[in-house]
Amino acid sequence: MEIEKNINNIKNIIGNYCRLVAISKTKPVELILEAYNSGQRIFGENKVQELEEKHLLLPKDIQWHMVGHLQTNKVKYIAPFITLIHSVDSEKLLKEINKQALKNNRTIDVLFQVYIANETTKFGWDKDELLEFLRSEKILQYKNINIAGLMGMATNTDDLKTIRTEFRSLKNLFEFIRNNFSLANMDLKEISMGMSGDYKIAVEEGSTLVRVGSSIFGSR
Ligand SMILES: *Cc1c(COP(=O)(O)O)cnc(C)c1O
Repeated sequence: MEIEKNINNIKNIIGNYCRLVAISKTKPVELILEAYNSGQRIFGENKVQELEEKHLLLPKDIQWHMVGHLQTNKVKYIAPFITLIHSVDSEKLLKEINKQALKNNRTIDVLFQVYIANETTKFGWDKDELLEFLRSEKILQYKNINIAGLMGMATNTDDLKTIRTEFRSLKNLFEFIRNNFSLANMDLKEISMGMSGDYKIAVEEGSTLVRVGSSIFGSR
């Protein structure tokens, strides 16, 4: 009941342009089913083993997103079913996802995780590093990958101005790439930004995918 209410509340706030990824990490399948029964179909996890287990147990029309740091040796476990990987932070990982996508005879949608925060703990591409990589056109060899957009995490702070500035910088980078690069396996549509604490700002700054956990399922 509470979960359904929370989801409807968030959906009202984010509107039709933006979609909700319900982050269900550490939460049991019963609670995920409650969200599912209220109509939610996109769920995100940050650990491969948990993702695999939940995928096995839960309805097959759920679209699973990987949002956490992904080790190359674990890509093979999620490659058969994953809908979107938000957290591509290196070429090495991209290469492995491509390899496993090919093995599974599919194309996997991915986002480049870009480093936008002040904090040094977050994974991701530096903006210049990403642009350089795109200019090299190396991604053209990864034919079983589709670059669907960018993902970023703002600094964990109460300073709303900092958060807004960081989200805006990701949106600007997105627009720049869309206007300046045309690559066969890149179809930029998604800007994944915004979590429980900052998704309202993210939506105002152009987010198309918010990743919300605790505001739906309670604290972890
Ligand atoms: C846990 C997590 C979220 C959701 O965080 P909440 O604050 O619970 O909404 C979003 N994105 C990533 C990458 C996460 O690991």
